[in-house]
Amino acid sequence: MNIVLMGPPGAGKGTQAEFIKARYPIPHISTGDIFREAVANGTELGKKAKTYMDSGQLVPDEVTIGIIEERLAREDCQKGFLLDGFPRTTVQAEALDKALALTGRKIEAAINISVPNEILVERMSGRISCKDCKTVYNLKFNPPAKAGICDRCGGELIQRSDDRGDTVGKRLEVYMEQTNPLLDYYKAQGLLHDIDGNRDTEVVFADVRSILEKLQ
Ligand code: ADP
Ligand code: AMP
Repeated sequence: MNIVLMGPPGAGKGTQAEFIKARYPIPHISTGDIFREAVANGTELGKKAKTYMDSGQLVPDEVTIGIIEERLAREDCQKGFLLDGFPRTTVQAEALDKALALTGRKIEAAINISVPNEILVERMSGRISCKDCKTVYNLKFNPPAKAGICDRCGGELIQRSDDRGDTVGKRLEVYMEQTNPLLDYYKAQGLLHDIDGNRDTEVVFADVRSILEKLQ
């Protein structure tokens, strides 16, 4: 199963990826997570990515594509993978297809999660995640049992710096300009599946599952 999860920031891609991972044995590859880890570790990649992330812009294609090419070449991706947050531009989508074709692979489904903008803003503003195990919560929609503490591992819950202030609106703008047009790329290939993401997480996952079951 070679899957792409699409949708604006805050749509619930990471949340659905957790459900998918629990049921299907494929690696979850989130470019956002890769960049955040690089920033936290202070690597060269992290230094490069940070300025773009902090201003709500996309990290340049040449940086992002190289990371994904390397990741998809690894052994654990040969029987399937779940991409979350990549591709985000048409250049990235074309590069992805090219890289996969070299090893006789292709994308089998692009699952697009749609949520109205005002809900996305609410979701991003309320998103908190565990510093240690990265579990994602929401202050309004999915709060932890004890404020500020991860239910799963007891770690500290923190807010992403790009979920604050003006950056949220900027990311939605960038999504509309650069990523939304990409839906047509997958639609033209008959790979696009649209899902209403403005429902309970389990209800959304039931739709995701019915798409994935048909691919197996
Ligand atoms: P993305 O990976 O697309 O940016 P996330 O999965 O991190 O989105 O979800 C964004 C925020 O919205 C998180 O705080 C998450 O807990 C919450 N969330 C995700 N899916 C839903 C849903 N179906 N209903 C309500 N809140 C949700
Ligand atoms: P995300 O966690 O998917 O919301 O991504 C957080 C940030 O990482 C984005 O706002 C971008 O700055 C950067 N990023 C993640 N994925 C990509 C990508 N495919 N292309 C460019 N930048 C990305």
